[in-house]
Amino acid sequence: MKKFLCVLVAVFLIAMCAIALAACSADKMKTAVKNGDEYTIVASYDEQSHIVSAVQTVKAVNRSENSFDSVKFHIYPNQYREDATNLVVPNVYRAKAYPNGDSWGDISFDSVKVDGNSVAFTVEGTDCDILSVPIAGGFFPDKTVEIELTYQVQLANIHHRLGYNDNTVNLGNWYPVLCHIDNGNYTQSPYYNVGDPFVSEVANYNVNFTLPENYIVASTGELVEAIKDNGYVTYKYRAEAVRDFAMVTSAKFTKISQTVGDTQVNYFYYNDADAQNSLSTACGMLEYLNKNVGTYPYTQYNVVETEFCYGGMEYPNLSMITCGSSSYQEAIAHETAHQWFYGLVGNDQIANAWMDEGLSEYLTYLYLDSAGVTPLARNMLSCTQTYVTYVDVLDKYYQNVDRSMRSVDAYKSDSEYVVFTYVKGSLLFNTVYETVGASKFWKSLQNYFDEAQFTVAPSSQLVSCFVNVCGEEAGNIFTKFIEGKEIIGKVTD
Ligand SMILES: [Zn+2]
Repeated sequence: MKKFLCVLVAVFLIAMCAIALAACSADKMKTAVKNGDEYTIVASYDEQSHIVSAVQTVKAVNRSENSFDSVKFHIYPNQYREDATNLVVPNVYRAKAYPNGDSWGDISFDSVKVDGNSVAFTVEGTDCDILSVPIAGGFFPDKTVEIELTYQVQLANIHHRLGYNDNTVNLGNWYPVLCHIDNGNYTQSPYYNVGDPFVSEVANYNVNFTLPENYIVASTGELVEAIKDNGYVTYKYRAEAVRDFAMVTSAKFTKISQTVGDTQVNYFYYNDADAQNSLSTACGMLEYLNKNVGTYPYTQYNVVETEFCYGGMEYPNLSMITCGSSSYQEAIAHETAHQWFYGLVGNDQIANAWMDEGLSEYLTYLYLDSAGVTPLARNMLSCTQTYVTYVDVLDKYYQNVDRSMRSVDAYKSDSEYVVFTYVKGSLLFNTVYETVGASKFWKSLQNYFDEAQFTVAPSSQLVSCFVNVCGEEAGNIFTKFIEGKEIIGKVTD
C-alpha cells in the first residue's frame, strides 16, 4: 500500500513537473513572440519571368542600448549577381549548381518608406548585400519604426537555396532580413560561399504568397487560409518565433504526412521511390530529439525534396533535401537536428559553425545508432580516418597546420570547412559523450536548449552548460578541440 502510495505520489510529482516544464516552454515561446519583430510580406511569383514581387513591412524595435542613424537589412538575393565578388557557389560546385549554364539573379527596390514617408535608401556592404534605411531623428533604444520595402527578386536558374530549376522553386533567404545586432552594432558579414553565412533573430511573420493554382507549397509557419482566384491561389501563413521564413514550391509535389507529438510532419517529394521511409526518418529524428533534448514547439515540420548543390539546407519548420543525394536519409536526420540547433537555439553560424553543424551531425550519428541503422562506432571511426588523413595530407604540404575550429571565411577551401566543422565537430561531441556518459551529455544539452532557445547563443554558453553538469573535464575537451590542441589517435585500419 505504501509502495502504491509512493508510486501515486511519484506519478503525481512527475506529472506536475511535466506540466511545469511544458508551461515554462510555452512561456518562453510567448515571450519570444512578444519580443520578436513583425514581418508582413505580400508577394507573388511569376512563373514566366521567375520574378518574386513583394511589398514587405517590418515593424522593428531597437532592443539594443545603442542608437543608430539607419536600419540595416541583409539582401542575400544580390549574391546571385554575375558581378558579385563572392559568387554564390565556389568553383568546384559550379557545374552542379548551374546544370543549364550560367544564370543570374538579384533584388531591386522600387521604394522604401519609413513610417509612411519615402526615404533615400542605399545598397551597401562589401558585395552590395546590405540595404541601409535611414531613420530621420535616429533609431533610439526601445523605439519602434515601420519600414515598408517594395521590391522584386529575380531568381536565377540554379540548384541553390534561392532559385528555380526543372522541378522546384526554392525560396530560401529571399527577402530583406534585419541584420542581427551584436555587441551594440549591426553585424554586416557578407555572404560567404562556404557554410551557411547567416545570423538572424527570431521574429514573427505574416506572409501572403500568390502562385498559379497548380503549385503545391511547403513553407515555414502555419497555413491560415488559401484563397483561390482566377487560376491563382493566395496562401496566407503565420509563423511565430522563427529565425527565418522559407518556402519551396513545385507543380510536381506529392505530400504525405504523419503526426509526432503535437507536430504534423509533412514530406513533399517528386522523385523518391521510398517516400514512406524518408517520412519515417524525419519522424524518428523528431521523436528522438523531442525525448532527449526538448519538445519541438511548432505544429508543422516540412521535409522537402528539391534540387540543391549540397546535401540539404535547414530553415525553420522546413528542410530542403537534395534529390538523388547518396546520403538522403542521413541528410533528413541532420537537417531535422538543425530544427533544434540553428532554428530554436541559434548561434553565429559564421564564427562558430561547429556549434550547429558539428552537433547536428553528431546527433544524426547517435540517432542512426539508436535506430539500428549504423553503429555509432562505425561512423566515428570513419570521422577519425577522414580527419587524421586530411590533417596528414595538409601537414605534408604546409608546416604547423592550423587545426583550430575557425570562422567559415578563415578556411582555405570548402573541404577544409567540412572536415573541421562537421567531421571534427562530431569528434568533439563524441569525445565529450564518451568521457561524461550518455546521461550527463543529454542533461547538458537539455539545459542548453532550455536556456538558449529563441536566442543566438555564444559558444561560451554551450560550453558552460556542459561544464555545469559534467565538470571542468568537459570544458577542457571543448577548449582543446576549438584551439586545435586535441589528440586524435592515428588510425591504421
Ligand atoms: Zn547542417
